[in-house]
Amino acid sequence: MSGADHALPPLREVIKAHDLRAKKSLGQNFLLDLNLTAKIARAAGPLDNATILEVGPGPGGLTRALLAEGAARVIAIEMDRRCLAPLADVARAFGGRLRVEEGDALAIDEPLLLARLGVSGDVRVAANLPYNVGTALLVKWLTLPHWPPWYQSLTLMFQREVAERLVALPSTPAYGRLSVLVQWRAQARLLFNLPPEAFTPPPSVTSTVVRIEPRADAALVDPALMGKITAAAFGQRRKMLRQSLKTLGVPVEALLSGAGIEPTLRAENLDVAAYVALARSFAACSGGEIGQ
Ligand code: SAM
Repeated sequence: MSGADHALPPLREVIKAHDLRAKKSLGQNFLLDLNLTAKIARAAGPLDNATILEVGPGPGGLTRALLAEGAARVIAIEMDRRCLAPLADVARAFGGRLRVEEGDALAIDEPLLLARLGVSGDVRVAANLPYNVGTALLVKWLTLPHWPPWYQSLTLMFQREVAERLVALPSTPAYGRLSVLVQWRAQARLLFNLPPEAFTPPPSVTSTVVRIEPRADAALVDPALMGKITAAAFGQRRKMLRQSLKTLGVPVEALLSGAGIEPTLRAENLDVAAYVALARSFAACSGGEIGQ
């Protein structure tokens, strides 16, 4: 822990002084245990020479750990205005290595933000986010038009059952849309669990820290088509593909035969390569372009 952090009050005092009562609507479950924040910060590394984009810094526990563990720079996006004053104190204590942006992370154009701030090179994401926002952001970050993306790694907290979906294999109950999108373009590793008591207030579920690294060799296929195909297939996961894919509005038999897939299979039976083949066949059937 660096000297700069010692100059700041403990997180419990920060929360009290700024009356940061946790808001359920913003999914606020704060991490106050410095051993845990340091462990997550290290998991997001290497931090030297890296700019960390932190989403949802809240009172600044993980932010302080990232800075104290040596992140060259942290850019933090927070939508709760109440957190801006305590985060400004963190920025002062760490000599300007922290930049705070107020806003909704779902609406932010990260490459534009990074360009505006003159950031290039190693950018990594770290976040402890509410479950629904974390999942929506992950889908956004996996379906970017340009690949490899602007980030080197994502270190994110999910509720354990969502984390397990990211690494689930075909024909298992946890295998779903997220599994396909993650495994298509990235490699995900589940690092460690955090019990509910690690948070204030405690959530009702166990959380898991996950590290996701983009694959440079991800199969070239339009991410919008992968998004549509997986949404249609898993939207009705109990149905056979010849039925569930009808919502795509192209002749289903041609779509499936173009990809060499049996019409009686279900969404969970297809591996990532089969989804890539389906997305390419979808492009052909709808007269669109294959690839990016
Ligand atoms: N990082 C802090 C920690 O670990 O103690 C806070 C974590 S708390 C689970 C989630 C944080 O994300 C809150 O501060 C909340 O205000 C913020 N948040 C929620 N939705 C957001 C969004 N769409 N964009 C940016 N921040 C968001």
